[in-house]
Amino acid sequence: MTMTDTMTDPQPAAGGPLAPAALDAAVAEALAALAAAADLADLAAVRTAQVDGRSAPLMLARQKLGTVAPENRADTGKRVNEALGAVRDAHTARLAELTAERDARVLVEERVDVTMPATRRRPGARHPLALLSDRLVDTFVAMGYEVAEGPEVEHDWFNFEALNFEPDHPARSEHDTLFVEPEGSGRLLRTHTSPVQIRALLSRPLPVYVVAPGRTYRNDTVDATHSPVFGQLECLAVDEGITMADLRGTLDVFAAALFGSGLNTRLRPHYFPFTEPSAELDVQCFNCRGEAAHQPCRVCSDEGWIEAGGCGMVDPNVLRAAGVDPTRYSGFAFGMGLERAAMMRHGVREIRDFVEGDVRFSLPFGIEG
Ligand SMILES: [Zn+2]
Repeated sequence: MTMTDTMTDPQPAAGGPLAPAALDAAVAEALAALAAAADLADLAAVRTAQVDGRSAPLMLARQKLGTVAPENRADTGKRVNEALGAVRDAHTARLAELTAERDARVLVEERVDVTMPATRRRPGARHPLALLSDRLVDTFVAMGYEVAEGPEVEHDWFNFEALNFEPDHPARSEHDTLFVEPEGSGRLLRTHTSPVQIRALLSRPLPVYVVAPGRTYRNDTVDATHSPVFGQLECLAVDEGITMADLRGTLDVFAAALFGSGLNTRLRPHYFPFTEPSAELDVQCFNCRGEAAHQPCRVCSDEGWIEAGGCGMVDPNVLRAAGVDPTRYSGFAFGMGLERAAMMRHGVREIRDFVEGDVRFSLPFGIEG
């Protein structure tokens, strides 16, 4: 209150913050602050500062009502309440606006577009060859065999010499075998898993029952059924009194694990340097069950039989090379190609499919209960 006010208005309704002009200014300031609030957090601060906080100008003005002369108190109070009402209404309206903006923004920011392609990674599958190898290894382990391994870069002595290959055997030529530099080092990429037989006999006490799965290499050109790298699985049993009958019984269990039970097996005379006698194992075709003579069969090419591997009684020269007395011990060995068996089993036409790493190839075969 100033002297001038008093002089020009001897009975002022109210002075200071309660003057109409001061109330109008407080309302204008509050409305501007409310309009300028950019978000709900801003608005909460403006509410405290301008609407209902203890130091909001209009709240301070209301506290001064007690100082107004009684005859003017009703009018002044009405003006203060109108001013407060206008500001509260403006706050309510701005709160509704900012809440609607926030909700709309959240809808956009947190929107899930159900038409977008899924980015979820599909689980892969184990490689069909690894699965088949494990399955066959498990079969031998269940019969009491131990798993044996050997290096893929092998020495000529383990790969050929100790296995009774003649020095001029065609397999020992560069035509069939991949040799490792330097020339004359005797090192090569093993052409079969059979060197593991020699390593097992040299490193383990007798009797020896081992199964040896692994990768092998030959100087082959890639085509639908040939690959320079392929998997083999080999078993060796050396004990006293082992006969061909033991081999036959073991192979029947193996054939059932590979192609299913109830299929006949047969041994066809063959020749391998490291076994004598030697034979090819045939298993009755699991598809036509040997009835191919009556109905065409793609799996066995109408043969009725599937070649499943090579086998025989361990040649005494091999036992001797590994320091085993052939007059006391005898044994049998069996080896098979994993790709060929998997191709038969799953109807795969291209050996290249096994090495191309396409999960779409592995998925149908690579999941097994
Ligand atoms: Zn068949």
